[in-house]
This record gives sequence, structure tokens and C-alpha cells, in this order.
Amino acid sequence: MQLNRFLYFADYVIYPLASAGLVAVSLLKTDPLRWEQAAIGFVCGLALWSLAEYVIHRFALHGPAFLAALHDVHHTDPRALVGSPLWLSLGSIFLGSLLPIWLAIGFATACAVTAGLMMGYIYFGLLHHVVHHHHIKRGTYLWRLKRRHALHHYGKTPCNFGVVTSLWDHVFGTFRPE
Ligand SMILES: [Zn+2]
Ligand SMILES: [Zn+2]
Repeated sequence: MQLNRFLYFADYVIYPLASAGLVAVSLLKTDPLRWEQAAIGFVCGLALWSLAEYVIHRFALHGPAFLAALHDVHHTDPRALVGSPLWLSLGSIFLGSLLPIWLAIGFATACAVTAGLMMGYIYFGLLHHVVHHHHIKRGTYLWRLKRRHALHHYGKTPCNFGVVTSLWDHVFGTFRPE
């Protein structure tokens, strides 16, 4: 949904701080992780984000009509400041990552994985903002990403749902080359 400038950019302050806090908790809790376990958990969280991003974009934002209508604001005007308000993204991350992993594996692991997932979310937001708002030099990685994402926006068939990676588009058969 459309956000004001302050809320749109607040994610880029709140999430790195929250992510650092969760890493610290995972290392300092009563059942602390060793740093290499925390690092593995963090990387798993990054990977988990890439899949979550694909699933949310393909099956939620291009799924039920009321969610598709919200996402359509971005498709209609890609430069509008559209995103998820903090309460929605934080609540979803708590219910979709921290809580289930906490219950299944343990609190310290859940903190490390969720910290990685949060930074994956921020990395996605940053890339997506840059490809829509900045002039990008031809032939670079970002230029190829911009072309790939442009096919998602303007292609004839639904494709290229992933932004941080095209891996899941390849896996699920929705990849179209730029
Ligand atoms: Zn879309
Ligand atoms: Zn876009």
C-alpha cells in the first residue's frame, strides 16, 4: 500500500537495528548459539527470505483479488512509494519466522534465522527501490536485474517474481530471460 516518505524509509533504519539486536540475543541468551551457528542461521534466514519473497509475490500479491488490488498500485505506478507498513511486516515476520522456528527448534536459532530474513527483506527493498528510482548503467548487474523485473511489470505472461534472485523462478518455471 501507499506509504508516506517517513514510513517508506523507516524500514531501512528499524530492520538493520532489529536484525543486529536479534543476532546479539542469539549469541547471549541462556542457550546461546556459537558464532558459527549464528552465522549459519543468519544465512539460512537470507535464503528463506528469497523463497518467501517469491511465494508472497506470486501467490499473495498476484493471488486473491483484495491483495492483488493493493499490489496493482505498484504495477500501475512503479515509482510510487508503495510498501508494507511496519506493523504488517513486523507482525508477519514474527508469526511467519520467529514464532514457528522458536517452537520447532529454539529461541536462539529463531533469532539468528529471523535476523537473516530481515536483512533479506531489506536487501530486496533496496534493490527494488533502486531499479525503479535510479538511472542504471547499461550492462551492469543492476541493469540486467532492472530488465528482468521490467518483464514482470510489462511482459505478456506472469513471470520473474523474484527480485533478489531468479533462482525460484527457474525452479518453478516462471523465469523469462531479459
Ligand atoms: Zn508484481
Ligand atoms: Zn516493481
